[in-house]
Amino acid sequence: MQNQSPKIAVFSTKNWVIQAFDEVNKNHSFEPSYFEARLDKKTAPLAAGHEVVCAFVNDKVDAKTLEILKTQGIKLIALRCAGFNNVDIEKAQELDIAVVRVPAYSPYAVAEHTLGLILALNRKLHKAYHRVRDGNFALDGLMGFDLHQKTIGIIGTGKIGQVFCQLIKGFGVRILAYDKYPNEELKNLGIEYVELPKLYQQCDIISLHCPLTYETYHMINEYAIVAMKPGVMIVNTSRGPLIDSNAVIEGLKKGKVGNLALDVYEEEEALFFEDLSEKVIQDDTFVRLQTFPNVLITAHQAFFTKEAVHNIAETTFANIAEFFKTGKSANQVIPVGK
Ligand code: NAD
Repeated sequence: MQNQSPKIAVFSTKNWVIQAFDEVNKNHSFEPSYFEARLDKKTAPLAAGHEVVCAFVNDKVDAKTLEILKTQGIKLIALRCAGFNNVDIEKAQELDIAVVRVPAYSPYAVAEHTLGLILALNRKLHKAYHRVRDGNFALDGLMGFDLHQKTIGIIGTGKIGQVFCQLIKGFGVRILAYDKYPNEELKNLGIEYVELPKLYQQCDIISLHCPLTYETYHMINEYAIVAMKPGVMIVNTSRGPLIDSNAVIEGLKKGKVGNLALDVYEEEEALFFEDLSEKVIQDDTFVRLQTFPNVLITAHQAFFTKEAVHNIAETTFANIAEFFKTGKSANQVIPVGK
C-alpha cells in the first residue's frame, strides 16, 4: 500500500472545497479530480482511474454504489465529515474497501451555530433585520423570552454537545442531558443527566447532538412531542432523520411546539447545498415547514467556518496519507461489533 500520491475522486465539490483542498495539498502530492456530482450508483463510474473516493454528508454510498466503486478499483472512501450514516459500512468491509472519516474538525463551529439559531429564533432577529431595512420599526410580534433560568435539554453530550453545554451555561440556565454514555466532566460542571421522559417533560429548549443510528431515527416523533412541555423549542443541528418532520409539523400546528430551528432536514439530499431559487420545490413537507412563522431553517451550514473547513481538508488528506503508508488509519470506521 506504499502509493504516496493516490488519485482521489472528490464528489459533491463546491468552490470552497477546491480552495481548501488545493491549499492543504501544497503539503502533499495527491492528484484530486473534482466532480460537482453527488456520489450515488449513477455517478460512481466517474471514479474510474482513481484509488480514493472523497465523499460528503449527502453522498449516497450504499451497497450498489460500493459495488460499482469496487469494480473501478477504489480502495478507500475518505469521508470529509464526521457522520457516516450515509455509508453502508458492512458492505464496504465485505468488499475490502476501507472507510475513514473526520471525527472532529471544530465542535465549536456547530455548537456556536446552534446557539446562534436559538438566539435568532427566540429574539426573531431574522424578521427584525428585514423589518428595519423596510423602515418598519414596530416591535409587535418580535417578543422573545429570557434564556436566563430556563431549562435546556441536550441529547448527546459528545464533542459538540459538550461545547454547546459550556456555551449555553453562560446564560444562567439549568441543563438536563441525556446520553448513553454520560460525560463525567460535564457532571462536575453541574449538568444533570436524566432519562428522556424527564428531559422532555421539563425542558424549555431541546437541542439534538447525538448521531443518526437505527436507535435515534425519528426519536423526536409524535410520542416524544406529546411528552414535551407546551411551547418547547426544538433545535436540530445533528442529522435530519432524528426528527419525524410530519410529527413536528402537527406539533407546530397544535402550538405544542413553540419554535423549531433546523440546520438539517430528513430529505435534505434533494435540496441542500444547491441554488434552487429559480426552481419549484417539490418537497411539500419542507415547503410546509417554511410556512410557519416560528420555524428557522439553515441549509446544513453549522460546520461552515474557516477553521472547520481547513481542518476537514487537513484531516482528510492526513487520513489518506496514513492509509496508503500503513494500510490503516486511526480514523477508520469499523462496523459495530467487528
Ligand atoms: P460525538 O460522537 O462526539 O458525540 C455523539 C454523542 O452522542 C456521544 O456522546 C454518544 O454517546 C451519544 N449518543 C450515541 N447514541 C445515542 C443515543 N441513542 N441517545 C443519546 N445519545 C447518544 O459526535 P459529535 O462530534 O458531537 O457530533 C454529533 C453529531 O453532530 C454527529 O453525529 C453529526 O451527525 C452532527 N454534525 C452536524 C454538523 C452540521 O454541520 N450540522 C457537523 C458535524 C456533525
